[in-house]
Amino acid sequence: MPIDLPPGHFFLPGPTEVHPDVLAAQARPMIGHRGRAIEAMLARLQDGLKQVFLTEQPVIVSTSSATGLMEASVRNGVAGGRVLSLVNGAFSSRFAEIAMACGHDTEVWSVDWGLVHDPAELDARLGQGGFDAVTMTHSETSTGALQDLEAIASVTRRHEGVLLLIDSVTGVAGAEVRTDDWALDFVLTGSQKALALPPGLAFAVASPAMLDRSAQATNKGYYFDLLPLMKSLEAFQTPSTPAISLLYALEVQLERIMAEGIEQRWERHAAMRLATVEWIEAMRSEGSEIAVLAPEGHRSPTITCISLPEGRSGPEVVAAMRERGWIIGGGYSRLKESTIRIGHMGDHDPQVLGQLLGTLGEVLS
Ligand SMILES: *Cc1c(COP(=O)(O)O)cnc(C)c1O
Repeated sequence: MPIDLPPGHFFLPGPTEVHPDVLAAQARPMIGHRGRAIEAMLARLQDGLKQVFLTEQPVIVSTSSATGLMEASVRNGVAGGRVLSLVNGAFSSRFAEIAMACGHDTEVWSVDWGLVHDPAELDARLGQGGFDAVTMTHSETSTGALQDLEAIASVTRRHEGVLLLIDSVTGVAGAEVRTDDWALDFVLTGSQKALALPPGLAFAVASPAMLDRSAQATNKGYYFDLLPLMKSLEAFQTPSTPAISLLYALEVQLERIMAEGIEQRWERHAAMRLATVEWIEAMRSEGSEIAVLAPEGHRSPTITCISLPEGRSGPEVVAAMRERGWIIGGGYSRLKESTIRIGHMGDHDPQVLGQLLGTLGEVLS
């Protein structure tokens, strides 16, 4: 049985809490998926989505979870060359697995979970030549580490013919992402993270270079071929039936996001990171042995992964918080026992986060 929580108490690192007005929008009656009404709605959605991604290019709306667009990125972005996959946690590792599952020759560059990749070393590795694409996870949700996306994009751009494919599922709408200014080739997100929508939609922007590559790529399959998707998008249509109810929710949520402003939204997320990190430092100064997993300067504004002291386990702390009316994330995969994760993303408010941290302090002492 789901427990009844007061609003604002659901801090999973995805899915995130959804505002009641956004939930309610999904109850509107259906409209046909061919016709004026849906075209008008898709056009309005483009205006808001462009402001979220800071782009003038069309924003792809996919009826799939984010993993679908991760697969689309390697199916369209690789045409015979190799893939370099930057791996520093569970989701970046999934990206490498997807590249391999799609039959691409994939070089995995792993660093310890929690750390990030050095752009200068990326430059050297790409210097070997032969790569079509780099895959990376901007904000690694399993560890709370934030890659320096702007620097990695600028290094990748120096290598002709190499596309940067970015999983920014817990980045976009929570962390700074400037699609056009940073000339990103393919940047994708999902609905149920910092956008604070129900799960089921994914969004991406593809650069002209990405679309040129897609024209050369073979074995793209059918559903995730970007060229027909883009062609429909230009006419504010979709190749197959979209998740109409989720589009209603998206429309309401985009209005809410625009009312706040995208940069203000990034600032609110940065303030939630700061509040969490400062609280951890205060706990440490009182003798607690908790710690932030990701190093200073590389911490995601949307998620903090906290290492627990000897003798405490992730599932036990999560259960104790649940008893007190707060939902937080457990550690992911190999970090399950040794860490917990707070998803301070979406529409959360730093003040309510402060109450959560107060309760966490009682549970941990
Ligand atoms: C949640 C998440 C995904 C997977 O998203 P789905 O919508 O479940 O497919 C991929 N990458 C990152 C960084 C995530 O946080």
